[in-house]
Amino acid sequence: MNKTLIICLMILGTAITACVPHAKNRTKTYVNAIERLRAGNDRFVRHRMKHPDQSAARIMETSGGQHPYAVIITCSDSRVAPEIVFDEGIGDLFVIRNAGNIVEEEDVLASVEYAVAHLGVRTVMIMGHERCGAIEAMTREPGEDEPKHILAIIQRLKNEPEEQQALRSGDTGERLVHQCVAANVAHGVAALSHQLHHLKGHGTDAGISIVGAVYDIQTGVVHFQEIKPSHH
Ligand SMILES: [Zn+2]
Repeated sequence: MNKTLIICLMILGTAITACVPHAKNRTKTYVNAIERLRAGNDRFVRHRMKHPDQSAARIMETSGGQHPYAVIITCSDSRVAPEIVFDEGIGDLFVIRNAGNIVEEEDVLASVEYAVAHLGVRTVMIMGHERCGAIEAMTREPGEDEPKHILAIIQRLKNEPEEQQALRSGDTGERLVHQCVAANVAHGVAALSHQLHHLKGHGTDAGISIVGAVYDIQTGVVHFQEIKPSHH
């Protein structure tokens, strides 16, 4: 592709954007955001990806400011990449990742606050995944040579009340890990809901919706947990 053509396409992209101002990124309401995430994951699972928002025009369009429509807190696991599994592109998702998608860390909470208070995001998803190494580590006795920060994370997970309940379920092996993954997400939703309470009034009168989900690394499907349309 020659330079002139690229520039023409970029100008065209800008012109289209000007006609429909930020139409794609006005997915501010919870229902729209969830529908968009579901639709993107559906395309991913069926191998019918559109790879949206990855053009040179999109890079230019978003260079002046970002308007992501959802925050995704998920695991650092290399198999769980939000922009890929939701078939999104540049400027669409505000992503926070750490091993075990732990919410109650200052840097995670600060990142969510930034997205809510400064970028106007109203939908926050906490997405765990099946066969999560952090969760698996929690379900068995840690080795003596386990590095100290990993031990701290394991202990933190073990202290979650939802996790303690799952650990008492009597399940073992993969079934136990499956239960514990869901319990950790449920804990994240409850903890974040509590932590974001103080944001009420920061232009968030419409409320912030928090949804839990679990990504299945075998099928690519994102399973949404119970949906609560209006968290405050
Ligand atoms: Zn993981």
